[in-house]
Amino acid sequence: MKKILLICLSTILIGQEKYPVDWETVAKIREEGFQRSEIANTLSYMTDVLGARLTNSEDMRQAQDWAVSEMKRIGLKNTQIEPFMDYGYSWDNEYFSLHMIEPDYQTLVGYPIAHTPGINGRQKLTVVRTQIKTKADLEKYKGKLRGKAVLATLPPVIDQERYRKGTPRYTDEQLKEISQKPFPKPPRGPRPPVNPDLVSSEERNTFFKDEGVSVILESRSGWIAAVRGFARPGAKKDKWDRKGTLEHLPIVAVTPEHYNRMVRISDRDITIKIEVEIKTKIGKQRRQARNVLGEIPGTDLKHEVVMLGAHFDTWHASPNASDNTSGVSVMLEAMRILKAVNIQPRRTIRIALWSGEEQGLHGSREYVNKHFGNPNDSDVGKKVGYNTFSAYFNQDYGPGQYRGIYLQDNEHVRKAFTSWMSPFKDLGMTTIGSQSVGSTDHIPFDRAGLPAFQFLQDRVGGTGGHTNLDFFDTIPIEDIKKNAVIVASFVYHTAMLDERLPRKIVK
Ligand SMILES: [Zn+2]
Repeated sequence: MKKILLICLSTILIGQEKYPVDWETVAKIREEGFQRSEIANTLSYMTDVLGARLTNSEDMRQAQDWAVSEMKRIGLKNTQIEPFMDYGYSWDNEYFSLHMIEPDYQTLVGYPIAHTPGINGRQKLTVVRTQIKTKADLEKYKGKLRGKAVLATLPPVIDQERYRKGTPRYTDEQLKEISQKPFPKPPRGPRPPVNPDLVSSEERNTFFKDEGVSVILESRSGWIAAVRGFARPGAKKDKWDRKGTLEHLPIVAVTPEHYNRMVRISDRDITIKIEVEIKTKIGKQRRQARNVLGEIPGTDLKHEVVMLGAHFDTWHASPNASDNTSGVSVMLEAMRILKAVNIQPRRTIRIALWSGEEQGLHGSREYVNKHFGNPNDSDVGKKVGYNTFSAYFNQDYGPGQYRGIYLQDNEHVRKAFTSWMSPFKDLGMTTIGSQSVGSTDHIPFDRAGLPAFQFLQDRVGGTGGHTNLDFFDTIPIEDIKKNAVIVASFVYHTAMLDERLPRKIVK
């Protein structure tokens, strides 16, 4: 009995010794991060001064230069802007205005879709509503759209429930539920076949072009006052091509209330006239998209690396304070804290500010392929850095505070993460979710079999990513202060271990 107890006790102790908490360093990190935080200033500079950062735009390139200078100011070493792929032509919106002038005057809120062209001067156009779902619907509009602005999408329905309910923080019950889901998510079933009669956005826009339409108007958001808009259909396929952009029709995304007002007027057979002006700047040559990197060099294990990061690119209609300027400011602040408390990590700590995330995780994927490789992909193979990589920590689920971390189906890190969460119990950082989560820059690492993690975050703050409304004012600053402290501590502890963080066994 005694013997069993001793064995049990010693296993517990070995477990704790393997992943101990350095309480003294945690105290310094908390002190620096809570009493001398610079995160509000960093977030303000990025959202107020730099603004939107569409991948490969002029705006983005300027912002990346700032990121390098900021990393240097913090005291990081080996800062660099690293090109990762022949991406395409830059696109920047320089000026936009949209007004309804008949039957009543109103300023319309909207913005041009990325990688669409501008128009010549200020144009007065008649608006026509179209309702195109199937190929047969196209016939109805033949010969009727020349020189017109078309309402191209079906009227969006505003989700009022979302606003009534708000976005509450996780309750204890919800967190418990997340922590009690031990099984991996079942794989997704096959997609249902596409109905061949349906018209794709690309086919519909080509039809409009052939019919001589002047401007396409659309609205895809069901969110009050928010415009959601991305890039023109086909931009990814032609790799953000200059010719592809210039030959396309201009597309303007409009707020749902303003769009639906025009739909209702049009249904009364009353003429609508708008005045529109769009100026865009399209690059003259293909350029490489780039990531920004910086380091705190390690000591005895400096050839090994622990990474943290967030995507620096945004959509173009706002500075995207929540998605993902908040994540970037958290990671920069974490590095600043680690420098300010003068840690001497055993492994090198590297920050990566990715680009091309919004278009399909391009920056992180190309980086992983180049530096670490992917043994699961025979075209890429394993690279030198594969065996000396420890772990990557990412933030991209908005600005809400960390309430825990997902194991990404890697049970081998449960003990480490449980131990390292313990100094932050008072901040509400208590939950381990064992499942894998997706859709952002930790995925390329994970697919290559490398430990990479997202924190479990409250879904508060911000107006939602990818809209024209995502500014500094709705970001909960206290939340992101906490996140910077927690990620700094996780990264520090990972960098100080005797061994690299364990990987999941893939069979
Ligand atoms: Zn994002």
